[in-house]
Amino acid sequence: MDAVVKNFPQTVVSERPTQKEAEDAIRVLLRWAGDDPQREGLLDTPARVAKAYRELFSGYDLNPEDVLGRTFEEVSGYDDMVLVRDIPFFSHCEHHMVPIIGKAHVAYLPKGRVLGLSKIARVVEIFGRRLQTQEAMTAQIANSIDETLRPRGVAVMLDAEHMCMAMRGVQKQGSSTLTTTFTGAFKADPAEQVRFMSMVRGR
Ligand SMILES: [Zn+2]
Repeated sequence: MDAVVKNFPQTVVSERPTQKEAEDAIRVLLRWAGDDPQREGLLDTPARVAKAYRELFSGYDLNPEDVLGRTFEEVSGYDDMVLVRDIPFFSHCEHHMVPIIGKAHVAYLPKGRVLGLSKIARVVEIFGRRLQTQEAMTAQIANSIDETLRPRGVAVMLDAEHMCMAMRGVQKQGSSTLTTTFTGAFKADPAEQVRFMSMVRGR
């Protein structure tokens, strides 16, 4: 687990297929589904899908540490919890390549310095735009903030619906999956976890 989580893998392959190879592959999938890639409505689809994939999987080209690394602000005196909740995210499960749609709640306990708040949402987005399991994504967000900001602790909760469950197989629409990762003071002190949970739920 640690090995997977620690190196925040970016692009895994050194040489990528060409745009044409990607479009050809999509034409194969269209035929596999039972349709005709040559019919008018589908002629531009391979190019569109390839372009959409570029965006949906752009997280492989981005390093969360670049976002986090230069953005510290010194704060005088504030050392209590900073929580950004209800960060919407879209990802894709690595098993079926269909969407995971959810919200992230990310908190940390500062040790002398804080992050620009938009940076946290940006980190969630970078990890979301890769093929994921929800468990790995939760740990990656927590560990990347933990290792770059070095706060007293990080708490991350993801609450998401997996389209692979909603649309196929058991077809459990509306069920959500909750995952949490705690580091530092959050991990050591259950009372801090409770405080995080109640702040996430508080309205
Ligand atoms: Zn899946």
